[in-house]
This record gives sequence, C-alpha cells and structure tokens, in this order.
Amino acid sequence: MKSVTSWGRLSADPHHVVGLNDPSRIRDLVCRGHKPGLAYGMGRSYGDVCLNPKGTLWVTTGLDHFIAFDDSIGRLVCEAGVLLRDIQRLVIPRGWILPVTPGTQIVTVGGAIANDVHSKNYHVLGSFGDHVQSLTLIRTDGEIIQCGPNERPDWFAATIGGLGLTGVITQAEIQLRRAAGPWLETETIPYANLEEFFRLADDSEAEWEHTVSWIDCITGEGGRGLFMRGNPADVRQRPEPKRRQLTVPFVPPFSLVNRLSLRLFNMAYYYLKKGQAGRAITHYEQFFYPLDNLLEWNRMYGPKGFFQYQCVVPREVGREAIQVMLKEIARSGDGSFLAVLKTFGNRQPVGMLSFPQPGVTLALDFPNHGERTLKLFERLDAVVREAKGRIYPAKDARMPRELFETGYPRTQEFMKYRDPGISSGLSRRLMGS
Ligand SMILES: Cc1cc2nc3c(=O)[nH]c(=O)nc-3n(C[C@H](O)[C@H](O)[C@H](O)COP(=O)(O)OP(=O)(O)OC[C@H]3O[C@@H](n4cnc5c(N)ncnc54)[C@H](O)[C@@H]3O)c2cc1C
Repeated sequence: MKSVTSWGRLSADPHHVVGLNDPSRIRDLVCRGHKPGLAYGMGRSYGDVCLNPKGTLWVTTGLDHFIAFDDSIGRLVCEAGVLLRDIQRLVIPRGWILPVTPGTQIVTVGGAIANDVHSKNYHVLGSFGDHVQSLTLIRTDGEIIQCGPNERPDWFAATIGGLGLTGVITQAEIQLRRAAGPWLETETIPYANLEEFFRLADDSEAEWEHTVSWIDCITGEGGRGLFMRGNPADVRQRPEPKRRQLTVPFVPPFSLVNRLSLRLFNMAYYYLKKGQAGRAITHYEQFFYPLDNLLEWNRMYGPKGFFQYQCVVPREVGREAIQVMLKEIARSGDGSFLAVLKTFGNRQPVGMLSFPQPGVTLALDFPNHGERTLKLFERLDAVVREAKGRIYPAKDARMPRELFETGYPRTQEFMKYRDPGISSGLSRRLMGS
C-alpha cells in the first residue's frame, strides 16, 4: 500500500497501486481485483475524483505511446496515458494543435476525457469530448467497448465526463485542428467591476476564440480584474521562448498563502498586469498554462493542502450570483490567488456528467482552514443552489450529495453504465458506492 494524494493534497490515504504499462495485460490486471479499482492519470484533479482510499489505483502513465498520426487530416490515435503536453509538442510543429486543453498541459488523455475538461475557448469549440472520435474502454468483467459519437453513442456520452467510472480508457482517437504555429495574438484589458467584465465577455465572444479573466476576490468592491483574450496568430520566424521551470522543492510547515500574502499578491498582480495591458504576441504555453512554469506549486499551501471551488451558474442570474459569492469570500478574508471568471457560451456538452453548461464559471483556490473553509463553502453552495448551477467534480472534495444530484440531472441515466468493479472517493460520497 502506498500513500497517494491528488492536486489539493487534502489527504494521503493508502492505496494498492498497480501500473498499467503493457496494453496486452490491462484486461488481466483490471479484472483480477477483489476490491473496486480506479484509473489514475497525473492526479491533477484537486479532490477525490481520482482517489480510491484503501482500494486499488490503476496508474495509466505507462500507457504513453502514440499509435498513429495522419497529418493530412489531423487525426491522432494514442494511448490514454499520453500527456497533452507531449501531444502539443509533437503536433504543433507539424501544423496541428489540440483544440481544447485545460489550464495545465500536464494531464493525461484519459484524465481529460474522464473529466471532459474545458479550456478558454468553450464558447467556440466546446470541451475535450467534442474532439474525441472514438475510444476504447476495458470493463472489469473483461468486456471491451469501442465507442464514439456514431458508435455506441450512449456509452460514449457516459464515458466522456464519466469520472473514470464506466471502465478504463486504454486509447483514443482525437481530431486536432489546424495551427499556423505556437503563437497567439493576445490582449489584456483591465476591468473595474462585474458589469464591465460581462460587457467585455459579450463583445469578445464573436471575434476572439479564447477568453478568460482573473478577478481580484480580496477587495470585494465589485470585482475588478483583468480580461484576457486571444486568437491563433500566423507569426513566422520568431524564436520560441526558453522554457524555464522552477520547482517548489518541499512542503513548508505552514501555508505560504495567507491573508497578508494574498492581499499583497493580488494588488501586485493587478497593477503589474495593468501596466502591461494591451496587445501582444504570446507563446501558447505562456498563454494557456502559465502555472506549469512552477512545478509542484500546490506544496505552497503547506501540510493541510487546499481546496478549489469551481461552479457554473446560468447567465440570467450570473452577475448577481457572482457578486454575492465575491462578497462572501471577501468577508471571509480567505480569498484566492488564482480566481478565474469566464463565460461558457450557449452550448451543451457531450457527456451525461460533463461540467460545462451555458452560463458563467468562477474558480477559486482556498487554503484548508478546516471548519472555517467548509462553512464558507456552505454559503457559496447556497448561492449555487439558488441559481440552479453546479460544482465541477474534477475540483471537488466536499460538495453535498443533494447539490450534485440537482446539478447533474442525468446521474440516474449515467448509473446504468457504471462499472461495478470501479469506485472512487467521490463516487462513494456522491453516488453511494
Ligand atoms: C493547474 C491546473 C489547472 C487546471 N485547469 C483546468 C481547466 O482549465 N479546465 C478543466 O476542465 N480542468 C482543469 N484542471 C483539472 C484537470 O484538467 C483535470 O482534473 C484532469 O482530469 C486531470 O487529468 P489527470 O490525467 O491528472 O487525471 P486524474 O486527475 O489522475 O484523474 C481524473 C479522472 O480521470 C479518470 N481517469 C484518468 N485516466 C483514466 C483512464 N485511462 N480511463 C478512465 N478514467 C481515467 C480518473 O479515474 C479520475 O476520475 C486543472 C488542474 C490543474 C492542476
């Protein structure tokens, strides 16, 4: 047994860890267990969706082979443990790019499918599952299921965003999109309040593929922030920036993120970025994955770890709901370094349990102060419940079951596709097994 954590480092429970390295042995390994198992990619989920305390974890990072790439049409077939970072570095120089990637590229294809991850361009290109053409699933009874949008589409809809609970994904075929190169034309615009944020979001959605904003959730005055937007750019002969990677080398004995450091960081970040506002040509890694430059940054939160709270609320009530949440957060004094606010556009995702829905999403990190933090989340939950929104399971470690059930009305339909030999901390908490 080995202690395993997820990105929030809120727990380190023992797991029986089994590496799935050889594709020809996966079926044997996943069928063998007496206790339920769960696939584990890079553990970049924040809570317990990728954990199975006291049970088995099938670690997929050994399934890291590219199988086929047709660069005339941008079709890639690869094993499920391949990292999105490695796909990007392979295909961008060949004129293609992954259409959708989350805010870190250090995640596996299997993890990106199982959480149906979204990017800054959801309003244009949807989520990761929209670009999966087919996938192979191995169930713990030995059945192998091949599915896609046109082949066993019900299994596909259950597995995209299916939280790893329908089987182990072994490989996937992904449709890439054309890219002139690694550059984007970007623009940063400071905004003074939520009204300005929504105006910028509305004005940008038609012309800009990527939109996102950082919001200062410490001041509580009404949500000043920085709106960032970007489009692919056809820029030639520009040297790629040097990749500099620092690492937080150890877990400090206490959280380095506290009221004082948050206040200082938010103020410094706002004024620094405000000073750099305007248009620029930006490398995709800097624009999409700025946090990947500091490896193991989650250690900064000390031994108790941290939570992320990400919700989406419908657009009609979005401004009011976000305003109330920001006030609650400011009042608690437990703000976030990395507060992200983004509109999702008007489209429905592929998966039965996919997170995105039309509306506006807010994501915030909070140091774990135990009961105090959980009480704040209860107040935020009340706003999400009232607004008829939902919380993102990939980021969750504590949402109440009732809020999951109302937020994800297709849960009962999904249950038919669950693999009884698979279970996670999250599934036991929110689905009863
Ligand atoms: C800095 C940072 C930024 C992020 N930004 C975003 C963002 O912008 N948008 C977004 O949507 N998410 C974001 N995330 C969350 C992250 O993208 C997801 O949690 C992603 O699923 C993690 O992938 P992973 O390979 O680490 O999978 P894990 O976290 O290990 O597992 C995630 C889920 O996938 C399942 N799984 C993994 N592999 C397989 C497989 N082969 N077969 C079946 N199930 C499998 C697991 O059982 C689990 O349920 C961010 C995370 C971090 C740390």
